[in-house]
Amino acid sequence: RNQQTPDYLRGLNEEQREAVLSTDGPLLVLAGAGTGKTRVLTTRIAHILTTKRAWPSEILSVTFTNKAAREMKERIGHLVGAGVEGMPWLGTFHSIGARILRRHAELVDLKSDFTILDTDDQIRLIKQLLDAENIDEKRWPARQLAGMMDTWKNRGLGPEDVSPADSGSYANGRGARLYAAYQNRLKVLNAADFGDLLLLNIKIFKEYPDVLAYYHGKFKYMLVDEYQDSNVAQYLWLRLLAQGKPASQANICVVGDDDQSIYGWRGAEVDNILRFEKDFPGAKVIKLERNYRSTSNILKAASTLIAFNEGRLGKTLQTDVGETGEPVSVTSVWDSEEEARTVGDEIENYQRQGETLNSMAILVRASFQMREFEERFITLGLNYRVIGGPRFYERKEIRDAIAYLRVVANPSDGLSFERIVNTPKRGLGDSTVQMLHNTSRSANVSLLAATRMLLETEELKPKQRSTLRELVSQFDNWSSRLQSLPHYELAEQILDESGYTAMWQADKSPDSPGRLENLKELVRSMEEFETLGGFLEHISLVMDRDTAEAEDAVSIMTLHSAKGLEFDTVFLPGWEEGLFPSQRTMDESGRAGLEEERRLAYVGITRARKRARLSVAQNRRIHGLWQSAIPSRFLDELPPEAVDVKDTGSSYGGYGYGGGATSRFNKADPFESVYETPGWQRARAQQSNRKGGGPLTIEGDLVARSVDLGGDRSAFGIGER
Ligand code: ATP
Ligand code: MG
Repeated sequence: RNQQTPDYLRGLNEEQREAVLSTDGPLLVLAGAGTGKTRVLTTRIAHILTTKRAWPSEILSVTFTNKAAREMKERIGHLVGAGVEGMPWLGTFHSIGARILRRHAELVDLKSDFTILDTDDQIRLIKQLLDAENIDEKRWPARQLAGMMDTWKNRGLGPEDVSPADSGSYANGRGARLYAAYQNRLKVLNAADFGDLLLLNIKIFKEYPDVLAYYHGKFKYMLVDEYQDSNVAQYLWLRLLAQGKPASQANICVVGDDDQSIYGWRGAEVDNILRFEKDFPGAKVIKLERNYRSTSNILKAASTLIAFNEGRLGKTLQTDVGETGEPVSVTSVWDSEEEARTVGDEIENYQRQGETLNSMAILVRASFQMREFEERFITLGLNYRVIGGPRFYERKEIRDAIAYLRVVANPSDGLSFERIVNTPKRGLGDSTVQMLHNTSRSANVSLLAATRMLLETEELKPKQRSTLRELVSQFDNWSSRLQSLPHYELAEQILDESGYTAMWQADKSPDSPGRLENLKELVRSMEEFETLGGFLEHISLVMDRDTAEAEDAVSIMTLHSAKGLEFDTVFLPGWEEGLFPSQRTMDESGRAGLEEERRLAYVGITRARKRARLSVAQNRRIHGLWQSAIPSRFLDELPPEAVDVKDTGSSYGGYGYGGGATSRFNKADPFESVYETPGWQRARAQQSNRKGGGPLTIEGDLVARSVDLGGDRSAFGIGER
């Protein structure tokens, strides 16, 4: 009998096998991290195909990211071999929604080649609408309306479903009407935004039963991964598609883990899991309890932590890895720089032991934390890739800020000037910029010089002339201040005085607080350089570097984008109150927010197969001031028996006594560190190698002591005499 078991079923445990074989009727697989939920989905598709229950094109499978979709395609390819033609409809809700919408675009007054708007286009469009309605954008920011419309769309609400009362105070209750106007504009432009991809599907399914019936006939099997993070619109969409059969016979399989629901802030509803059994009566529920990913120490840490949450469905989780493994380590470091240095050293160590960079990841809570790691890896020459977003210096707000600084350092940098001449918006249109260009070309001078020339003529309209005059004099002023102010202070002033910081402060979109943090981090990073020129030089070199996809590289990403993935070694930096759990989430959503943060911590730890290495910095620089950080409450919630707490205390990062000195790595000379006390007296340590050691040069009225820590580590202490 065993001989008849197909290959793909071997190696599955009993529950997994049952989940794969229960092809007909609704099925909910509810299970903790690493129990093989995704593996069950993939194997199920293989099973449906090899037993010829359906053709590939008759299977609809929803993944959470495009990356997951690609991986799943690959896995299915392996499992099924070359025998089966075509591929299932496999992708994210958005990508599948877009594919369906293109087929029936005309039913909602679009053409099949409609454009999918990105956020920038969307905002520009909303601003035009606000302008047309005489609504003051400063008072009622476009991004706020974008956020409201996004929420409505996530809830499956079209313009006809919202009333003025739903718009709250926005533009005195005109939000709902603007929503309708916005949707009309999109039709004229033959465009859809992200939220429309599903919303318009739903509209079509509801209004055109024949179209829905076609998909009922087409999709014989439906599968959904990461179901705990589906929102209302996604849920409605799935339910409509599953209605081809009586609910109790629908071939729909969803897998999820309530403990990994981390997108509540984007409208995901973990209740969708609970609703499943009600909507699909008689649904089979299978729980998987064996974890094949992590060692028992890692699992124990994660399970103990998540048990502090109250609203849970409750599941048991046991490791099947059969190894206690290394304890989860918690390292206390002096600051984020030492954190990055420690992580870099550990990565190099593992690498020497034969481990690949691909098997390691750094998962951060907030994207600004990435910079320090990126810098360190560049210094070390370690390959890295940033997943789910641009590298730090490629982010829009960073590029804008750098453009300002470049013009100050080099007034003839026309590209940079052009980038920010109308950012923030100063009411200078394309035609004005064109005029500047023409003058610059004909007079063969820089854009800024051309601007000066034009200011002497009558060619500019009065308003634009005064705007440009103001901008030019600001740049003159900044350039002159460069002599008298530290460049990082000047940078902060430039961002304030130009209105750039205010632009993001006024911005109500969910990503603007992150952008403001990135800007602060940029200013902070400038302090490590002697001059503005030195800093900009460094940036050019950093931006020039690129890691090819195929190369062996450490992954850096946010915890949110790590869902579903796994790595041998996972570094989890920044476990400090306010950062993780995030103060913002707790302020906005209170206890529920804290629980969502804790689930994020659970997701983070359970990404690790062999090692989870947490760190906490004792000091963070916030708003240009060093602040003592309080270790995250999540650290207290870890089981002591599975955790190893280390304090690098006075490691080679430098420590202070008396004065509380801090250390900085000198980027220009990797073998030199600069130590500073709060009074800005400096000590330089020439190091014989990266790990410290070597003579100390003391400037100012300071005493220093070098301590040998054994191995190749040493520490420097600096204090005032
Ligand atoms: P998450 O909740 O993090 O998304 P998951 O439940 O989807 O996790 P998978 O990613 O499917 O879990 O599986 C975790 C790891 O365990 C994978 O490497 C997978 O190949 C492996 N695995 C799953 N089931 C088995 C099994 N029966 N025997 C051996 N390895 C398994
Ligand atoms: Mg999974």
